[in-house]
Amino acid sequence: MGRLFIEDFGGDETFECRNCKIFLSNRHELVSETFRGATGTAFLFNKVANIRTGDMHERNMMTGKHFIRDVFCKKCETKLGWMYEFAVDEEQRYKEGKTILERKYITETILNKKAGSKEDNASEYADLSSPSPSPPPAEDDDDDDDVDADDDANLV
Ligand SMILES: [Zn+2]
Repeated sequence: MGRLFIEDFGGDETFECRNCKIFLSNRHELVSETFRGATGTAFLFNKVANIRTGDMHERNMMTGKHFIRDVFCKKCETKLGWMYEFAVDEEQRYKEGKTILERKYITETILNKKAGSKEDNASEYADLSSPSPSPPPAEDDDDDDDVDADDDANLV
């Protein structure tokens, strides 16, 4: 394998590979969120970056026969979904050239444009919260009370 070119066409709401966090697509390219993949909900995208496609094969789906290619993350090789190469059913042709990403394998990041710069690394600081100081031990008093109570019980 040669050098890894990472493509990033940006967007306010972006989708990344859940495993390696490489950029995949954005909400502008999202066609539908109502697809079903092998692992549950899957998203249909017009355009997805940083993927590698496998060999074309036939698959019979609920919506008819399709010719598809498996889609893998270009960086970490996780299988993310599939791409529609050709749909036999005329009504399904709109999917040709589009890519399904299974929701289980991707994450969505929403940039807050109002907050300002893209270099806002708020998430990195979230882990720096200092541990809360532990309260001074106050168990000695409790122990004394218990001892007193036992003594009284023995006297009765
Ligand atoms: Zn990946």
